[in-house]
Amino acid sequence: MKPSDILDLDRDARQALWKRLAAIIESYMEDLPGTRVAPELDPKRIRGLLEAVDFSRSLPPLEAVDFIDGALRSHQVHTPHPRYFGLFNPAPAAMGIAADTLCAAFNPQLAAWSHSPFAVEAERHLVRAFGRRFGYDAAHTDGTFASGGAEANHTAILTALVRAFPETARGGLRAVRKPPIMYVSSESHHSFLKAARACGLGTEAVRQVPVDAGLRMDVRALQAMIAEDREAGRAPFMVAATAGTTSAGVVDPLDRIADAATRAGGIWLHVDAAWGGAAVFAPGLKDLLEGIDRADSITFDAHKWLSVPMGAGIYITRHTDILGRTFGIAADYMPHDAAGMDVVDPYHHSIQWSRRFIGLKVLMALAVAGWEGYSAVIQHQARMGDLLREELRASGWTIMNETRLPVVCFVDDDRPDGRSERFLEAVAQGVVASGQAWLSTVRLGMGARPALRACITNYRTEKEDVRALVRVLHGVRTKIEETA
Ligand SMILES: *Cc1c(COP(=O)(O)O)cnc(C)c1O
Repeated sequence: MKPSDILDLDRDARQALWKRLAAIIESYMEDLPGTRVAPELDPKRIRGLLEAVDFSRSLPPLEAVDFIDGALRSHQVHTPHPRYFGLFNPAPAAMGIAADTLCAAFNPQLAAWSHSPFAVEAERHLVRAFGRRFGYDAAHTDGTFASGGAEANHTAILTALVRAFPETARGGLRAVRKPPIMYVSSESHHSFLKAARACGLGTEAVRQVPVDAGLRMDVRALQAMIAEDREAGRAPFMVAATAGTTSAGVVDPLDRIADAATRAGGIWLHVDAAWGGAAVFAPGLKDLLEGIDRADSITFDAHKWLSVPMGAGIYITRHTDILGRTFGIAADYMPHDAAGMDVVDPYHHSIQWSRRFIGLKVLMALAVAGWEGYSAVIQHQARMGDLLREELRASGWTIMNETRLPVVCFVDDDRPDGRSERFLEAVAQGVVASGQAWLSTVRLGMGARPALRACITNYRTEKEDVRALVRVLHGVRTKIEETA
């Protein structure tokens, strides 16, 4: 057999394969509302399934595809399900699925501009378009697509370090005389801690600024911590505000934090708007992000509220030279075909080297839905969040977080143990085990108060789904009472 017969299959087999793929995707989308949201977890069964695939026998292509179809249907939390009220994992938009399929087939290489000029320029176009929506001036906007928000936040720390301590690009942190310090709120995403480790800063370089009763960064505390660090001979270099916290969907006071960063001598302001950034596309929510245009850099995750398949993070900055100064490395073996042109090789602007066309799914989804389409989707989800708050209150639950974004944290004040971790955990487990919906628990604020958390993360979620969740919650709560 020729290598191409082995890996390309023959024409008939391929056509049957594409047809089956399309049928599977369509039936998955159709069947989803009627299926369990979460599987029963059974590692033994899954390992047993996989043992049958030992690579000593060649599987017919359709058999392989059907095997994966069955395995994924039975063994994953169906985040595209309209009753998945979970972490910021939406259903993937149809255009996003199409884009990822095209991307796999054309496999553009986004390390060097000259290898994939259209793809690189398309991402530049998107970065500028998003920058403009966040209030940046297009001529002063740069950025890079990333695997997700974690990589975008990591990129932010690296660029802030290079701006504050240009010597680190060559000498590393050893070249810095005073210990660099960065600030996040205690409600910020934990990717900052991991990135601090990966940057060689270590987690002790990350100050967790306390939050106020509304779970927003306490700006006075931030200022006091910066002053104290300065006094002690340390070097504050970055503050990262969050626009839409993971636990409670709360937006830090961006304008006041920007003022504090300016007053502290212009330390780098990063805004982590991984999920909440999409609020700028909805006229009714845009005001929540006031001040984001003052950020030195922004994290925005298209695989969250723009509902494209994972992973699609975006790092955007208004410092057009900083990515090059942070990541530019000369490599002789890289193509020089575009030398002399006014273009940028992505590998000079990113942690990644060989890289897929992450932006294609964003381009295609946005081109078809348009800003107006996304605005309608985002406002629909916000309305479903309002409805969820209403229905929960009517069912006797107490809402613990204040936000207009559709993340709702709640407890049960009708019973003495209704705020206990044990009870709330039992409710979440009961809901998940029912297969009828998925939600989780979080801990909020300085007292790490436990709460149930439900997010309208999915554009398919409708009123009936919200009401079903509240019914299931009530059923589980009643059953816990009976068995207590
Ligand atoms: C999800 C999230 C991240 C991490 O993004 P990934 O895409 O999971 O890497 C960072 N910050 C916030 C606020 C998030 O919600």
